[in-house]
Amino acid sequence: MALERTLCILKPDAVEKKKVGAILAKIEDAGFAILALRRVKLSMDVAEGFYAVHRERKFFGELVQFMIRSPVVVAVLEKESAVSAWRTLMGATDPAEADGGTIRKLFGANKGENATHGSDSVENAKTEIAYFFPASEVSPSA
Ligand code: ADP
Repeated sequence: MALERTLCILKPDAVEKKKVGAILAKIEDAGFAILALRRVKLSMDVAEGFYAVHRERKFFGELVQFMIRSPVVVAVLEKESAVSAWRTLMGATDPAEADGGTIRKLFGANKGENATHGSDSVENAKTEIAYFFPASEVSPSA
């Protein structure tokens, strides 16, 4: 196993429900180090750029409108196998299909409003982290 970093976004629904603290507590309890953390209201351009890979999907417009609705919290998480570990802790995309105890099961409403984002590969994590954080804003590991 290798020490990895991944991008975490607490989406507008989670922030609106005031679940930022509860979710960050679960993240730390699971052994992740939070190396960077920022609350931000995404612009349309930033949201569209972040989800550009989904541009052709039929839910793209809905997804972008949701992500710019109100502020999000973006974070860099570090842990052994962080990319898969964070996706496991988040649970399935659709909260109805997510395992018990996962963040999306606990805090997600539906397939669109599912509380959190996590990078899906180490490669994409690097790109996504750089999209939100200059290297100078990511703290050293320890
Ligand atoms: P994940 O976030 O689990 O990696 P995807 O990459 O497939 O899932 O989708 C990105 C995001 O787009 C999801 O987290 C969700 O917010 C939204 N989304 C996915 N599928 C749908 C859908 N059928 N309807 C509305 N929004 C969706």
